[in-house]
Amino acid sequence: MSQTFQNYIGGKWVPARSGKTFENLNPATGDKLGTFPESGADDLDDAVKAARGAMRMWQLTPAPKRGEMLYKLGQLIAEKKEMLAQAATREMGKILIETRGDVQEGVDMAYLAAGEGRRMYGVTTPSEMPNKWAMSVRVPIGVVGVITAWNFPFAVPTWKIFPALLAGNTVVFKPSEETPEMGYHLAKLFEEVGLPAGVFNVVHGNGKNVGWPMVQHPGVDVVSFTGSNAIGAQIATEGARLGKRVSLEMGGKNGVIVMDDADVSLAANAVAWGAFGTTGQRCTATSRVIVHERVHDELVKLVVQRAQALKLGDGLKDGVEMGPLVNDKQMQRVSGYMKVAAEEGVTIATGGARATGAGLDNGHFFQPTVLTGVQAKMRVAQEEIFGPVVGFVKVKSLEEAIAVNNETPFGLSSSIFTSNVNAAFTAMRDLTTGIVYVNHGTTGAETHLPFGGTRGTGNGHREAGHTMLDAFTEWKSLYVDFSGKVQRAQIDNN
Ligand code: NAD
Repeated sequence: MSQTFQNYIGGKWVPARSGKTFENLNPATGDKLGTFPESGADDLDDAVKAARGAMRMWQLTPAPKRGEMLYKLGQLIAEKKEMLAQAATREMGKILIETRGDVQEGVDMAYLAAGEGRRMYGVTTPSEMPNKWAMSVRVPIGVVGVITAWNFPFAVPTWKIFPALLAGNTVVFKPSEETPEMGYHLAKLFEEVGLPAGVFNVVHGNGKNVGWPMVQHPGVDVVSFTGSNAIGAQIATEGARLGKRVSLEMGGKNGVIVMDDADVSLAANAVAWGAFGTTGQRCTATSRVIVHERVHDELVKLVVQRAQALKLGDGLKDGVEMGPLVNDKQMQRVSGYMKVAAEEGVTIATGGARATGAGLDNGHFFQPTVLTGVQAKMRVAQEEIFGPVVGFVKVKSLEEAIAVNNETPFGLSSSIFTSNVNAAFTAMRDLTTGIVYVNHGTTGAETHLPFGGTRGTGNGHREAGHTMLDAFTEWKSLYVDFSGKVQRAQIDNN
């Protein structure tokens, strides 16, 4: 049944000023799920004004109190986990066990951020002058604009919104237009725990009409973005021009190294999960397998078997192991890379085309695909495909494997399967990604560790973990002189 949804601005549910709407569709069935406001710069402006209006009150609310609100929110999310997971599967397509994990990440993030409310440690240090006190504290920056992708429609917004609020900022959130219902649910949950009006606002719409005005709005102090490199680069440029803080989480081209001393069956399971879980639409998806020549054929055989055994379908149905791509644009993108693979002379060991058949014809289903004979510099080994496609690159040594892994424009996640402790520690030292796994695939980040990547994956920020407040706070240094004299640092003590 299709519902009509609204923006959440200054604690009120309102339509777009223009009255325009857009539809949210189920990628597995094509069913219409809801109608959302097709907002514009004027709606965004309303939300920024509401957020600025609430700023002072929220900053003066003690951080432990802000944390308690997030703790209650976490409890509420946990209570509603199944409803939220089902809604996420309906609008995004990934299977229920995965959307349950997506929602659980929101619970974990709420509890983590809540605890930070009673820490938010500053630093005290001795002054170089007598009778003088010195310390530094974190302070909120102002209004944080949050723009997110559709692939983790619940978890990723929480990585940004919860720490931003905990730190004392107010937030305007533009959810992905592919998964707007999760944005609605988040606002509804905040309303239910009694978050004061204006502290958190949601404006639905597309990137051009809401996202870009958010980047440009003088009332937005920080832009926290998760999405593609193409859009992230535009936001970074505009943010620099306007002197804003911009935190970017973008694409990946993640590699799993499998050495000849590895448990090959374990590696095959991890590769299949990393490559085909979320239909390959994860920033941490396994998209390259960098495998020692001695175990190459065995590993390919096992991963192909696992790919062919996967049951595709509507993620809400029991037994389904892989859902659809999110939309037709994604179908065109992934299909386009099959043409690139053919041009590059790569072998398609399995898959390579749209999946059809009973229960699949109304959705954007793509076959789990294994490419072999991939060379490190090929486009299919360098560019983010963002679909259920994994390419095998054959190598002769650990050194070569590490070099291949590191030579892409991205640097999010990498992994090594080996039983040799020296190889494991060498890889931990020399793999140049933001996340490195040993004997585990490229996905599966935990919220209490920093998340983010090097090179084109980001711009140096890390979300979650002990770094969660860095993007959303400034440091303020405070000096208190109780000497009763004018004491001149660097002068009177030398
Ligand atoms: P996208 O860049 O197309 O869109 C992301 C968001 O930006 C959406 O909300 C969109 O409406 C908005 N947007 C689009 N144009 C804009 C503009 N001109 N100005 C401001 N906002 C604009 O990306 P997508 O297809 O939604 O997501 C897929 C990408 O996200 C992949 O590259 C994936 O790797 C990346 N991703 C990264 C992480 C991470 O943490 N590193 C996590 C999830 C997804």
